[in-house]
Amino acid sequence: MQEELLKLIYDYAIKVKMPDYSFMEKLINIVKTYDNLDKYILEFELKDEDENDKKILGNYNGSSKKITVYQLQILKCLKDKNYNFTILERNFFNCVIFVQVILHEISHAIQYKMIESNNSSLETYILKSALANYDQEIVTEMFKHGYSINQVKIYMELQEKARKNNKKINYNIAPQERLAQINSYQKLEDILENIKNAIPMLFRYIKLMKYENLLLGYEFSKNSISSPTFKYFRDSNDLNRFSKFGWYTNDVEKLLNNLQCRYDLNERLKLGLLVQDREYDEFRRNLKKGIL
Ligand SMILES: [Zn+2]
Repeated sequence: MQEELLKLIYDYAIKVKMPDYSFMEKLINIVKTYDNLDKYILEFELKDEDENDKKILGNYNGSSKKITVYQLQILKCLKDKNYNFTILERNFFNCVIFVQVILHEISHAIQYKMIESNNSSLETYILKSALANYDQEIVTEMFKHGYSINQVKIYMELQEKARKNNKKINYNIAPQERLAQINSYQKLEDILENIKNAIPMLFRYIKLMKYENLLLGYEFSKNSISSPTFKYFRDSNDLNRFSKFGWYTNDVEKLLNNLQCRYDLNERLKLGLLVQDREYDEFRRNLKKGIL
């Protein structure tokens, strides 16, 4: 897959051609085939901009399974960014930014595939909690306790309404957004790995963006670092959903310890879980020094 995607990017970058509908179509089809996403990407569209929110670059609709990418918005982004790229890097950059937006939206399609699977990872559980229209576990419990189909339906509709009203997503802490950013930059890194020596500054930029997104949403408060994912669920009064895990406790010190035993720093950063101040500082320092 990586080679096919690299060839596509290369063809456009070398001809100094801006990605168009055909580019988007080819890219989506390559990933769709490779990741078995036929059921999860039904349509896609390239538009100038979103009428309601001019700032968004792309969108994946979980109900209609449609990806929309807004090219005018992406072009504006390109103008704003001025790095010390060589001409070759600049030409690649113009393509790569498009690719990142499309890969971000494809990541959302992959997330929907994950939450419908039997995968029992913590990542899937977090995504399920953030994306599903209603809580499947509660529905199962309701049936077990003898609630009627109508009562369950009412519960599901209310949940869906609440989710729609709660449209404003905080992109810095929403796990589905952090993960889509991290995964799309990781994929880009994998695609460009083979030509990294020809585009060193651009390759470094992509790596940096991945690390920046790993650190996104972490904040210092009272000398300790907050977890974006826990903050996200706390904000919607839904932190209790973690209590089913043996490692979960209200004691922050203990919680951090329990998580450290189970997940390494990279996994915790990716999932937006707790990290130690010292771990965070060291990660930042290494990032600045270019060690990572
Ligand atoms: Zn997104």
